[in-house]
Amino acid sequence: MAKADYYDLLGVSRDADAATIKKAYRKLAIKYHPDKNPDDAEAEAKFKEIGEAYEVLSDEDKRAAYDRYGHAAFEGGMGGGGGGYGGFHDASDIFSQVFGGAFGGGFEEFFGGGGGRRGGRRGSMKQPGSDLRYDLQITLEEAAQGVEKELEIEKDVTCRKCSGKGSNNSSGVKTCTTCGGQGVVTRQAGIFVQQTTCPECRGAGETISDPCDSCHGQGKVEEKTRIKIRIPAGVDTGTRLRSSGNGDAGLRGGPAGDLYVFINVKEHDVFERDGADLHCEVPMPFNVAALGGELKVPTLEGKSSIKIPAGTQGGTTFRLRGKGITDLSSGYKGDLHVTVQVEVPTKLNSDQKDKLRAFTESIGEENSPMQESFFEKAKKFFDF
Ligand SMILES: [Zn+2]
Ligand SMILES: [Zn+2]
Repeated sequence: MAKADYYDLLGVSRDADAATIKKAYRKLAIKYHPDKNPDDAEAEAKFKEIGEAYEVLSDEDKRAAYDRYGHAAFEGGMGGGGGGYGGFHDASDIFSQVFGGAFGGGFEEFFGGGGGRRGGRRGSMKQPGSDLRYDLQITLEEAAQGVEKELEIEKDVTCRKCSGKGSNNSSGVKTCTTCGGQGVVTRQAGIFVQQTTCPECRGAGETISDPCDSCHGQGKVEEKTRIKIRIPAGVDTGTRLRSSGNGDAGLRGGPAGDLYVFINVKEHDVFERDGADLHCEVPMPFNVAALGGELKVPTLEGKSSIKIPAGTQGGTTFRLRGKGITDLSSGYKGDLHVTVQVEVPTKLNSDQKDKLRAFTESIGEENSPMQESFFEKAKKFFDF
């Protein structure tokens, strides 16, 4: 099925401003919120869809990419029940979600390149530092609750001795004559104008006659650095976070690149994750299955319990509302699905065996609902 247009989903025009988009989203989010529409899968799907649309249209960069490439701009990581892609509105402001697929080839297009990076956010003509990638593995508990992590990264930092200028002697720094301080040179090639980094100053816009002896005129040195980052609750394997300005320092005071943190969530011993939902299997003693009772179940937040009705079959799944994981884009909490497996005791003493035999005789063959329906369906395979 083709994905619906994000503008259509929110019912706004393509040139709607941020306030209009926000207003439209709020109205729809209230209308389709799962709390208002319990057990309505259609409303739930709609709620997710508008969350996704808002996530993109409320972010200048993502909206621009969507306007240009449509849904293709985010393919590769988005969707699939809150899997790879998801944005967040309330995270620490140095962070913003990077849209899925951006690294898949569109990366240079959206984030890279010198000169006019990211809509002129970096005002300097100076050559910016490189963007860096850090692969971070976290536990499911950390992904669910959010966590602060300290990353140790080998990266270029501004030279402290010359404060990034490249020289401690102010007269030692001169505007580059080749590029006139622009850091780039342009060449006319037919109808095309080609812009390349200045070969003389390597993009710095300046030449140095008295280079700093600590950084050799680069204005930056490589160093092991510790960076604290806040991982928001709800991230999943494939989530990419951008920590603005925490990439390599730029050449001679040029703007720093960004740090991209790629999240990988470790497999959990007990829980299996499906987007915002969690699944787990819990053993249920056969007497509890028959008589009913309380069954202790694990949740990410600790112990909980469910009521087992008498006559519960193995394989039955119970849903614990809101015991899943917060969805990054919509902010609503998923559920925990507990599937019970009947446990058969293996070490019976002779007294217990006798009692079970007596029980078997007393119950006869009339009280096996699953067998009854199975043999009914499988009749033709047996020669009765
Ligand atoms: Zn130059
Ligand atoms: Zn220096």
